[in-house]
Amino acid sequence: MLGLTAAGVSTLAWPASHLLERTPAKVPAEEARAQEPVALKLPSLSADGPPLEASLSATSAFQGGALRLRTNIGQSGLASFLGRSVSLLPAPGGGLEAYLAVGVLDDPGQASAAVTVASGTLTDTVTLPFHITETDWTVDYITIPPPQPGDPDPLDPAIVRAEADLLASLYAAVSPGRYWVEPWMRPMDGVITGYFGEQRSYNGGPVGGHHGGTDIATPIGQEPGAAIKAANHGVVALSERLIVRGNMVVIDHGGGVFSGYAHMSDRTVAAGDSVAQGDVIGTEGATGLVTGAHLHWEIAVGGILVDALRWIDGSQGF
Ligand SMILES: [Zn+2]
Repeated sequence: MLGLTAAGVSTLAWPASHLLERTPAKVPAEEARAQEPVALKLPSLSADGPPLEASLSATSAFQGGALRLRTNIGQSGLASFLGRSVSLLPAPGGGLEAYLAVGVLDDPGQASAAVTVASGTLTDTVTLPFHITETDWTVDYITIPPPQPGDPDPLDPAIVRAEADLLASLYAAVSPGRYWVEPWMRPMDGVITGYFGEQRSYNGGPVGGHHGGTDIATPIGQEPGAAIKAANHGVVALSERLIVRGNMVVIDHGGGVFSGYAHMSDRTVAAGDSVAQGDVIGTEGATGLVTGAHLHWEIAVGGILVDALRWIDGSQGF
């Protein structure tokens, strides 16, 4: 495997065949190039076709936000940014695409994504600058009643950690499929009762952490129990009763993009089911660590939780 070391590109492995195959010499331009000194460099994708163009859906992203990257050409590719990398997937209209997630802990300021794509034996790289804007996190003080005798304590750090680890390992997986369509869909009507990234204090404890999802609830005065719908096409990766998140469904949208739906009163899909955008997957409920019925909705990209609301309000350019 060959690691590209061009400026701004982290280690990127292409198949070894790239070193062995030569582009067939069939046009005069190829003959002219054959006179050039032999050097260990990959042939440029742009030399035989349109130049590589890559664009981001917006010029800036908030901490906890995301951008959609698209290229005009390429059969495979990789984007390296903020010390991470993400594989590009074929886009419906041609070229490649991927979502780039900005975590709550990524530093505000200038950043860039180095995008390398390949077609056959040809590769090309372009660097895209973008800006990370600081997010002003909200703070919420929450009181949770003690658990019923015999019930597990959802505030027990060991339980909280075990459940977080379960989801983290799920969200870190990258399946080969690509199922999503744009625009993404809000999974439930109602009011927003908790924002992504919110810092919280439980029962007078220290303020800390960042809320990993968006809470949506049926307005007070109406009967809760709204239908919860899949925000996009995908395959159900998890459908279980968890202690903190209660009845939870996670949908794998492919390419390392997942959505999670928690605290439901019931689940109507099972792991392995294919779901279409808008399919009902459960019912708004109050299972797990809650003060009332609501949906906790989260989106993870490449293992990083991002603000799901920004995926449906158009502010990220998709
Ligand atoms: Zn929540």
